[in-house]
Amino acid sequence: MAEHDEEKGKEAAVSLPEEELQEEKKEEKKEEKKEERFCDLCRRSETVTGPLIELPTGQKVCKDCMQTGMNAVKNSNFDIGSMLRNLGGMPGFSFIPISDVQQQPAKKKETVPEKRFSMDEILPPHKICAQLDRYVIGQAKAKKLISVAVYNHYKRIINEERKKEQEKENAKVAIPDPNVPAPVEIQKSNMLMIGPTGSGKTYLVQTLARLLDVPLAMTDATSLTEAGYIGDDIESVVSKLLMAAGNDVSKAEHGIIFIDEIDKIAKKRNTNQRDVSGEAVQQGLLRLLEGAEVEVPVGANSKNAMVPLKTVNTKNILFICGGAFPGLTDIIKERLNRHSSIGFQADLKDRFDNDRNLQLQVTVEDLRKFGMIPEFLGRLPIVFSLEALTEDMLLRILKEPENAIIRQYEALLAMDEVRLVFEDEALRVIAKKALAQDTGARALRSILEEFMTDIMYEIPKDDNIGTVIITKEYLEHTGGPRILLRGQM
Ligand code: ADP
Repeated sequence: MAEHDEEKGKEAAVSLPEEELQEEKKEEKKEEKKEERFCDLCRRSETVTGPLIELPTGQKVCKDCMQTGMNAVKNSNFDIGSMLRNLGGMPGFSFIPISDVQQQPAKKKETVPEKRFSMDEILPPHKICAQLDRYVIGQAKAKKLISVAVYNHYKRIINEERKKEQEKENAKVAIPDPNVPAPVEIQKSNMLMIGPTGSGKTYLVQTLARLLDVPLAMTDATSLTEAGYIGDDIESVVSKLLMAAGNDVSKAEHGIIFIDEIDKIAKKRNTNQRDVSGEAVQQGLLRLLEGAEVEVPVGANSKNAMVPLKTVNTKNILFICGGAFPGLTDIIKERLNRHSSIGFQADLKDRFDNDRNLQLQVTVEDLRKFGMIPEFLGRLPIVFSLEALTEDMLLRILKEPENAIIRQYEALLAMDEVRLVFEDEALRVIAKKALAQDTGARALRSILEEFMTDIMYEIPKDDNIGTVIITKEYLEHTGGPRILLRGQM
């Protein structure tokens, strides 16, 4: 009996810590339940997914979702290596060991002071135009319109800032002074530029952005599709601008976005299918043109778990859309013919047919007929056309701009200590050939390159050559260039 009691006592002594253990386990489970975390993407709990990875943006992601994100980046041919290297080189980015990241608390949103403009800082239109004149030949009307539009664009930004300040002041007092007028709302000066290929649309915008020293992003409307379809989604243009601004949001917010080939997103006629790359893209662009807060990935074109996001407001971004609008002249012609009196019709028809600058007479109505939706046109209040380049303009483009093509070749040969001279007649032959190709000023370089390749290949062979003269005969294949030896004049 005594022996039996002793046994019981032993059991009790052993079972007591067992109970304590059970209690402890229960407590632990409770603790775990309290701290249960979920993946921000798939919403599965950490107990199912395994430990979550905390991103610098504060999001928590499971290993599976992280892998899916990595695969998506890999399959989109995105060079993640270079992205990481680029990010590493960018201000505000550095590599952090993943273990550190896991323990880091969510980062607070950085507040970058907004760039402020003042009236003394912005160039008046005549100065902007004079600067453009140094690089862009002809296109006087377009340059004037752009200069005024850009000037007004920056005035509008200043006006917005003043408005904000006044609203702040008004909020401080119970009854605002009724004698102080509320600032007027100024409409955005987004532009639509029409011009045949090679007429200098891209060049004009590039020159403008350089002169104003603002970031520029260029994109092709044909690559854009409605979100969720194959192609770049519409907001990717803002992402490009942020990249061009070196990830500086406030710089990007005062930049320029140029959307080329805008005519390719005209509404498709006679189609029953969903127009994902036409009308839908125009609809999608409305928000951006007007001004919207857009969350864009930093350093990539698409959003995924791997890429941090930044918010960019497009309210003060200047949008310039450009396109050749083939077929628009027929619409203009039709309208002009309709308005002309019947007796002169045949006579006028001939005149319109021979007018290379008919697109200068474009109206919003013509563009609507072409397939641009009214809401889209409403957000591009400045519409203008570039002139078709003439032989004389092409000749001037060859030699007059600060970075004229022939100056570039002269500089290349000067490095071989050889003087390059173009005879005026030779330049006219090039202009004539370019005009015949009907690809605007773009043809100039390809024609010149064809003749200059041989010269740039042969000249360095002979140290005695001092001057090369490009003659009309050389360009017409009836002779060669004239070569002068060093010391000869
Ligand atoms: P688009 O965008 O209208 O198709 P680009 O702007 O690409 O044409 O023009 C092609 C090239 O022609 C430019 O890089 C520029 O060197 C030259 N060019 C075109 N128009 C002009 C001009 N008016 N003045 C000076 N260069 C011009």
